[in-house]
Amino acid sequence: MILAKTPSEIQRYVSVRETELGLGVFAREFIDIGNTIAIVQGQLIYDPNYHSEYCIEMGPEESLDPDPPFRYLNHSCDPNCWIYSNYEDDEDFIEEDELGLYVCRTIYPGEEITIDYGWPASSAIPCRCGSDCCRGWIVNPEELPTVLAANERERQKDWIVIDQPIASGNPNPEIILL
Ligand SMILES: [Zn+2]
Repeated sequence: MILAKTPSEIQRYVSVRETELGLGVFAREFIDIGNTIAIVQGQLIYDPNYHSEYCIEMGPEESLDPDPPFRYLNHSCDPNCWIYSNYEDDEDFIEEDELGLYVCRTIYPGEEITIDYGWPASSAIPCRCGSDCCRGWIVNPEELPTVLAANERERQKDWIVIDQPIASGNPNPEIILL
């Protein structure tokens, strides 16, 4: 079921606090697995070129720029929530253009509420979530091999040595890939 349907109900369940990596959303109450904390409100964006670090992708050309507090949901490779849409049960209905924040692991008071951003490889950045199963990158798990391969190529570039001309004069400095 959807636990919080009004701003004051949302405030009962969560608060926004500083973390080491900027703001984050924290639980104020015990939140049981299987519930939806709330529907994430925000501005629907239909421009594929629109960029905001807070945007949540909803389709190839559609994203949601969330309002606070869920604007400040941080990534974890081992999240306690998922984002989903288009869901219906006996009590609640979440439409295609809405996003529900679903609790996939029981959350205790004071715990940070996190989701897996699952970014495409082209947007991947190093991850500092600190979970035991951290992938090392904020990226969709299926695209992790792409990121690792690109990173390995970058790392190898560090080993490219440009020969300096020696005293006698080397007319043809070479690039050697070790
Ligand atoms: Zn991580």
